[in-house]
Amino acid sequence: MLAHKIGSLLFCPTCGTLLDSPKDNENHVTCEQCTHEEPSSSYDGIEVITRSHPDAFPSALRQKRKTQTKLHEEGDKGTLVSEKCPECGHMEAYSKDKQLRSADEGTTVFYTCAACNHGWRVNN
Ligand SMILES: [Zn+2]
Ligand SMILES: [Zn+2]
Repeated sequence: MLAHKIGSLLFCPTCGTLLDSPKDNENHVTCEQCTHEEPSSSYDGIEVITRSHPDAFPSALRQKRKTQTKLHEEGDKGTLVSEKCPECGHMEAYSKDKQLRSADEGTTVFYTCAACNHGWRVNN
């Protein structure tokens, strides 16, 4: 005979006493009133629901942040300029300047071919 389940609580099937949650290393719960032994597996569904809550929320947030970063990168190709692609010979490419931290190293220009999407860079 298995316990009566009401919401998230389990009640002893022989005397109706509210049963405690099982300890981590126990495979059954003993009724305080009549010593009925309820298998811990009766709590499985209840425990899964309780445990999944703290993890579900932060992972949803992380997923959202990842999507936003990806969208930003895709929409930031640069300016369309006349530049010959070394890969396919197309005469249009997107250029993007990037100032390096040290002034001595000058500016690196990143190009992305408008035709074949090949990427290369030129140091000024
Ligand atoms: Zn009982
Ligand atoms: Zn190309």
